[in-house]
Amino acid sequence: MTIIEKAPAKINLSLDVLRKRETDEYHDVEMIMTTIDLADRLEFTSLEEDRIRISMESRYVPNDERNLAYRAAKLFKEKFGITKGVHIKIDKHIPVSAGLGGGSTDAAAVVRGLNRLWSLDLELADLALIAAKCGSDATFSLYGETAIARGFGEIVEKLPSPPPCWVVLAKPDIGVSTRTIFQHVKVEELTHPNNEALIRALHARDLSAICKHIGNALEAITITLHPEVKRIKDTMKNLGAPGVLMSGTGPTVYGLVEHQEKAKKIYNGMRGFCDEVYLVRLLG
Ligand code: ATP
Repeated sequence: MTIIEKAPAKINLSLDVLRKRETDEYHDVEMIMTTIDLADRLEFTSLEEDRIRISMESRYVPNDERNLAYRAAKLFKEKFGITKGVHIKIDKHIPVSAGLGGGSTDAAAVVRGLNRLWSLDLELADLALIAAKCGSDATFSLYGETAIARGFGEIVEKLPSPPPCWVVLAKPDIGVSTRTIFQHVKVEELTHPNNEALIRALHARDLSAICKHIGNALEAITITLHPEVKRIKDTMKNLGAPGVLMSGTGPTVYGLVEHQEKAKKIYNGMRGFCDEVYLVRLLG
């Protein structure tokens, strides 16, 4: 039997870092994220033999136990005592190390997919325990749509989605390591986004207010290390995008645009400036 799961990317409408934790190497964060229509596609086939096989063509991600899809499948099998195996084929479309949560969404799709493949009918809360061990955005990816994630990302609460709009994504030809950016964090020096105002804007479904209050406390650090992120932001703003921000720890910059014609104009303008540019819709 074979089944398919779609694994959509996310963008950060906000990313705040509250404090360094005493108990582990993580920081407590507060991130408002929403889902976009740029997705990996995962195909699952059950195997009689007890093994996990990953097939994915990527220069950047290995097909062994370092792949988050493998990790999610292993944890899933252990937690629920499954002795069957699985072959997971990943058709990768989300750029890697881009701030779009590509690894986390694959892990979440594995958890959802295996629950369906083996007809286990498990609750989302049980699946979330596994997702939380696969990356700070994986719990959010499991729930999808729009939500605020707290703790190191594992405490997720749903929020209303922004009104329908277009998202222009521009990624310079660099990968950013989340770990490296967090190593540079000094919480007292960060500029914190106003999450309360953003949450009010989401409840009001007011796109201009959403664009006004999006914010990312880590943007300045990534820009110091990779100044091209600032140039991309400035170019997108000059082309007329109202809400422009770096997603996650970068380097992808996005612009939220209400009307398709304007979004296409910005997309075309960015294509002359940056190698990897996408025009997608919010799935929210
Ligand atoms: P985030 O925004 O959650 O920090 P990201 O989009 O910046 O994530 P990812 O694309 O999730 O970054 O990749 C982060 C790391 O995870 C990379 O080092 C990559 O090799 C590893 N990784 C493991 N499995 C996967 C996978 N299935 N897809 C993408 N990256 C993976």
